[in-house]
Amino acid sequence: MEIRQISQGDGRRRRVQRLKRLIVLLVLIWMILPVGLSVILFFRVGALSRQIDETEGYLQQIVERISQQELKAAQQTASRPGRGENIIMVPADGEGGQESLAHGTEEQEAAHKVYLTFDDGPSKYTEDILDILDAYDVKATFFVLGKESDYSIRMLQEIAKRGHTIGMHSYSHKYAEVYGSVEDFSADFYQIYSYILDNTGIQSVYYRFPGGSSNTISDIDMQVFADFLAEQEVEFYDWNVSSGDGGRVLLDVDTLVRNSTESISRHGTSIILMHDAASRPTTVEALPQIIENILAMEDTVILPITEDTTPVHHIHKKESS
Ligand code: ZN
Repeated sequence: MEIRQISQGDGRRRRVQRLKRLIVLLVLIWMILPVGLSVILFFRVGALSRQIDETEGYLQQIVERISQQELKAAQQTASRPGRGENIIMVPADGEGGQESLAHGTEEQEAAHKVYLTFDDGPSKYTEDILDILDAYDVKATFFVLGKESDYSIRMLQEIAKRGHTIGMHSYSHKYAEVYGSVEDFSADFYQIYSYILDNTGIQSVYYRFPGGSSNTISDIDMQVFADFLAEQEVEFYDWNVSSGDGGRVLLDVDTLVRNSTESISRHGTSIILMHDAASRPTTVEALPQIIENILAMEDTVILPITEDTTPVHHIHKKESS
């Protein structure tokens, strides 16, 4: 009886003990589980944020690469293979200058290269000028303005179609607007650049400043605008031979012919200034004689301006020393 009582008491104690252990275990699990989960989540968050960082870096690289490619593409559209390093320096009204021979085709090797350039077009005379050039199978260069009439655009396209070089001569030709500031110049530049591109598909890389780079109208140093053009990889061309058809007085044919041709034999490169303008009828009348006289000269060719053409500049970059 006593033994049974003892064993009964032992049994209860053991059950209580087991229950206690179970409770302790449950409490432990209840405490450890969240801690363990927290630790797991902590590492998971760390790993994920590393992944995010890596992805961000990768995305940034892609974005940079894309923008670099875009930049390169834009530069390629704007850039053209290098043109002649040599530049002929002449005073504004000037003659002469040292020239070096470009190499290339037979034409490029002629001792005297002549470039007929027509400013301010298209005009009502554009077609006449084009027909005369065609008749002598001669290519010229037209520095055009932004004229939006259907006729002007048709003429612009005709100039391109007949194989002549199209250069920019500003959109508005209004000195105050073109030379007001670098921003004004840049805005006008893109206007004439787009006008030519939109209507002909040509990305012109040739520019003639209204009034030439030696004009005395601009209050801003013309070198600033020349630097802007250089940044666009656009070359500007002044002239070293003037027909004289840009003045107030309408010159007669003989004078225009003489002005345009008498100094050619002294130059390696002659860039002749003429105008394609409604107010200059005698230029059209003189053109056949001008061309004939030039073609009759020895070792002399008439060429359109290209990237191989040695530019003629009236202004030059000052040395920084
Ligand atoms: Zn002009």
